[in-house]
Amino acid sequence: MAEMQEARKVAIVTGAVRGIGRAVAVRLARDGFDLVVNYRGDHGPADELSAEIQAAGGKSHAIRADVTQANDVAALVEGTIAAFGQVDVLINNAGITRDTLIMRMSEDDWDSVLTTNLKGAFLCSKAVIRPMMRQRSGAIVNLSSVVGLVGNPGQANYAAAKAGLIGLTKSLAKEVGSRGITVNAVAPGFIETRLTDDLPDELKAGAKEQIALKRFGSPDEVAGAVAFLVSPAASYITGNVLSVDGGLFMAT
Ligand code: NDP
Repeated sequence: MAEMQEARKVAIVTGAVRGIGRAVAVRLARDGFDLVVNYRGDHGPADELSAEIQAAGGKSHAIRADVTQANDVAALVEGTIAAFGQVDVLINNAGITRDTLIMRMSEDDWDSVLTTNLKGAFLCSKAVIRPMMRQRSGAIVNLSSVVGLVGNPGQANYAAAKAGLIGLTKSLAKEVGSRGITVNAVAPGFIETRLTDDLPDELKAGAKEQIALKRFGSPDEVAGAVAFLVSPAASYITGNVLSVDGGLFMAT
């Protein structure tokens, strides 16, 4: 008897050209997903990543979209369905920081961080929910942060956005659970990417002291947690926040 071919699944990763998003895209492709690599700037790096995934035997399609723009997001999801016929997984990874103390924080610093990190995830989730509800399955993972759980001086805008993502995660999990869709968040601690490269050495050394594992994490280590949450192994996990922080923050 011929072996049954397992149906392929399709994942969108926002902000996928570098850092954690790139590691997640590569990992999901390795796990057998067809990939939509979202980017907002120059198409070169996104095309390179798609080519890398294809060279490894995967399928990948790069789609430009600014996640803060509803029209772009609609086109991202339409483009995904046009390319692959469905959407099974959404990873809301696109994010920015504009760090400064509240007393110096401009309205623009506040708005741009909230709009990218929180509204972007809302717009993307809203756009995939209908097709996922129709197929009665799906998984969404939001990239929150340890900062959203404990706060951080100089990051009130970022902490508010990342805490907001946790409320979005839990509420949406309750809204769509009956349709077989899971919604979870990952809360990374200090991960070696462009976001943390710029931190002063003194701050990095101090941070490592606070981390049980005494080191920063790698994007691949976050990708492993994301891959788990969208895998069949996590089919009964929803509305959860999975910390990937080396033991930086342990909830009581
Ligand atoms: P990077 O800055 O390395 O990458 C962020 C990506 O998001 C970039 O590709 C960027 O694209 C993209 N992006 C930003 N704004 C938009 C937008 N409006 N539309 C589409 N794409 C956009 O970040 P990291 O890889 O470090 O972080 C990834 C996620 O993980 C973020 O949500 C971050 O907050 C979170 N996180 C990171 C931690 C860390 O230690 N690094 C810790 C905790 C959470 P472009 O190249 O155009 O700027």
